[in-house]
Amino acid sequence: MDAILAAAHTRQKQIIRLIRELVECESPSSEPAAVDRFVNLLCDVVPSCACVKTYPGGRFGRHLVCEFDLPGKRKQGSILALGHSDTVWPLGTLASMPFREKAGRLWGPGVYDMKAGIAFFLYAMRILRELDVPVARRVLLQINSDEEVSSESSRVLTERNARRSAAVLVLEPSAGLEGSLKTARKGVGGYIVTVRGKATHSGLDFEGGASAVLELARQIERIAAFTNLERGITVNPGVISGGTRSNVVAAEARLELDLRAWRLKDAAAVDRKFHALRPIDKRCTIEVAGGLNRPPLERSPAVRKLFHKAQELAREMGVELGESAVGGGSDGNFTAALGVPTLDGLGAVGEGAHARNESILLDRIADRTALLAKLVREL
Ligand SMILES: [Zn+2]
Repeated sequence: MDAILAAAHTRQKQIIRLIRELVECESPSSEPAAVDRFVNLLCDVVPSCACVKTYPGGRFGRHLVCEFDLPGKRKQGSILALGHSDTVWPLGTLASMPFREKAGRLWGPGVYDMKAGIAFFLYAMRILRELDVPVARRVLLQINSDEEVSSESSRVLTERNARRSAAVLVLEPSAGLEGSLKTARKGVGGYIVTVRGKATHSGLDFEGGASAVLELARQIERIAAFTNLERGITVNPGVISGGTRSNVVAAEARLELDLRAWRLKDAAAVDRKFHALRPIDKRCTIEVAGGLNRPPLERSPAVRKLFHKAQELAREMGVELGESAVGGGSDGNFTAALGVPTLDGLGAVGEGAHARNESILLDRIADRTALLAKLVREL
């Protein structure tokens, strides 16, 4: 067995202990104090060979950036590893979903998305130091506090660090129980369409009114037609509201939508369609707010090349690594859109992100940790 993989196997119990500590420190996006506690815990467990800084996260917890002091002289350029400290689970979830080891898996809130991935990376860096493996680049780890709520406060920091990097390794969980990496992610947008009409008494002056509810209903049919399943463009009218009483012609109605697309140019085309919406009843007005929050992570030649490198390194350990395209976004969407080669889904192998069955496979802890160490060595 190769030395890095053997070292990861030897360390497995310690890695599990660290994952447990991370999972048992709950950190929902909406609770900055809790996220800060988690960030403090990370500061304590990061190896002494790293220089740690934190950055304010506005209404969220603090972001963390840590630079490792690894073997190897004259480093050129850097590699950025990306993760997030926040989870979708509210405080107190541990009471009904405690951390546990059962049936060949670790279970608990945030274990898969993505606390185990953070633990793997910290141990990968420790192993490179212990084995005195020379590394050609500076290595940064950035942990954002607001990834689950669209990364508004961390995006600038992510982009700044990515621009200086030769590659970005995203520690998000893999796709599926085979551990496929994510080489394409859809771009994600959000829109709010507000229709304003004219309120009147529906009995006394029906014709004098202009119903915002009726207008919105007609517009929804138009908007639904923006979906193009063949090209992977989906526009989901998720929430509607409007009107005040059944005997009042509605003055206002509102629609919230989610947009997903594989290609930036498709998202831009849909954006133009949103802004070209015109009222069918000319007495109504339409206001469109929103746009693309995360650009797509497109499977570019640079992404493909990075994936093939990872595949080759995994093969050395007897692991066949697949790739997949997923509809959900991550902070890797931002870095890939800058043209920086980005490989996503390098974290834990398991299932149940954002679900009660969230869990990771014990027998994939060592090879994933070793893969991260090898990628850092090779890039
Ligand atoms: Zn995640």
